Amino acid sequence: MKINRRDFVKAAGTVTAVGMMGFPYIALGAGKKVVVVGGGTAGATAAKYVRRLDSSVEVTLIEANPDYYTCYLSNEVLAGDRTLDSLKFGYDGLKKHGINVVIDSVTGIDPAKKEVKTKGGKTFAYDRCIVSPGISFKYDKVKGYSAEVAEKMPHAWKAGPQTKILHDQLVAMPDGGTVVICAPPAPFRCPPGPYERASLIAHYLKKNKPKSKVVILDHSSKFSKQGLFIQGWKALYGYETDKALIEWKPGPDNGVVEVKPAENAVVTSFGDEIKGAVVNVIPPQQAGEIAVQTGLTDEKGWCPVDGKSFESTLHKGIHVIGDACIAGEMPKSAYAANSQAKVCAAAVVAMLADKAPGVPSYINTCYSILGTDYAISVAGVYKLGEDGKIVAVKDSGGVSPTDASAETRKREVQYAYSWYNNITKDIFM
Ligand SMILES: Cc1cc2nc3c(=O)[nH]c(=O)nc-3n(C[C@H](O)[C@H](O)[C@H](O)COP(=O)(O)OP(=O)(O)OC[C@H]3O[C@@H](n4cnc5c(N)ncnc54)[C@H](O)[C@@H]3O)c2cc1C
Repeated sequence: MKINRRDFVKAAGTVTAVGMMGFPYIALGAGKKVVVVGGGTAGATAAKYVRRLDSSVEVTLIEANPDYYTCYLSNEVLAGDRTLDSLKFGYDGLKKHGINVVIDSVTGIDPAKKEVKTKGGKTFAYDRCIVSPGISFKYDKVKGYSAEVAEKMPHAWKAGPQTKILHDQLVAMPDGGTVVICAPPAPFRCPPGPYERASLIAHYLKKNKPKSKVVILDHSSKFSKQGLFIQGWKALYGYETDKALIEWKPGPDNGVVEVKPAENAVVTSFGDEIKGAVVNVIPPQQAGEIAVQTGLTDEKGWCPVDGKSFESTLHKGIHVIGDACIAGEMPKSAYAANSQAKVCAAAVVAMLADKAPGVPSYINTCYSILGTDYAISVAGVYKLGEDGKIVAVKDSGGVSPTDASAETRKREVQYAYSWYNNITKDIFM
């Protein structure tokens, strides 16, 4: 770890102080309208913080589903260690902040007319629009894969019904079977996510089906917190022994390019065909569909933004936050989305009052739970670089120490749960 936890908390405190600088704009945006598209981690945070920064701004949040299920901690649902219901959040808390919550799907955003249209036939005018639709899947990049096939070979990369399908398949599979996890090419939502998933599925198998194993077929040859994951896999799951519960096959040639649903098999770039008792295909990703359709994406499918305000560099008046945007060196994580949303909210409130946005700081922490009493983390503080891109602050953050005691690994599980309680309260209540 490059800095200790006390130094990190000090750096994070500075961020909070910078974030508070948005408050003096109170009531300067009277009568102005902000429409937020997508009420997930980023969108719900932004809607709440625009209202907190200036309660005179009329905020409408349009979200497709009445309930939101967090992806974070959803790997514990796969392992049978928590219920899907424990990840569910409604929108009553946001309504208490005076936000007009509309449950409907956005079907069109007109940057010229400054209007948002919904499937339900409504039109909403805006002064500034915040787009936070998360990710969509490039199904066509994996031959044979589709939304329909995903019902049999689930991705479970958006928490909800897919999480339940994958969990039920793990419960139904015979002991001695192989669980295949197909990790996607970067960039994707939650860089440590596939490896936390492998860990928690191994944790389930160890308890319930010890003759089984997890095989990760990867497009990448290295991954987030790799040294710590491998250390944990050796300690918990016999990694690199005859009895290993996890096998990692690095990329690029082990990346999956085709699925064969009838055989429950996948084909790698090598041409190897691998059959699984359970096959979890996490496909290549891009920004949520509505961002693509609105022309907010670049040729790779992600949304370029000005890191100071998250205003799109392609359409003025529209800001893009969360997984959908290109946020420089920040990962696509919930904490990053929450941090970007606060910076964006402060910038939107300032811009509505014809003021320049302040100088932002951003923060991220991401915990990964590997098994009973064992978690690891990564943390970082970010700033705006000279070229306007978001960069990591040198020597900020870092990862958990490799020589941590069992007690520290155990405490990191509690920190993870505490982080979850705090962030979901910050977003939805
Ligand atoms: C297995 C897994 C584990 C993870 N663990 C962690 C973790 O431990 N820590 C962490 O920080 N991050 C974690 N993440 C990442 C985290 O979930 C995402 O980074 C975060 O949810 C991004 O927030 P977002 O608001 O951009 O997208 P989302 O949270 O997906 O929200 C997007 C919202 O927009 C809505 N929407 C989309 N299109 C429309 C439309 N046209 N009209 C209306 N609504 C629309 C969707 O319904 C959705 O509610 C994990 C992810 C996965 C998959």
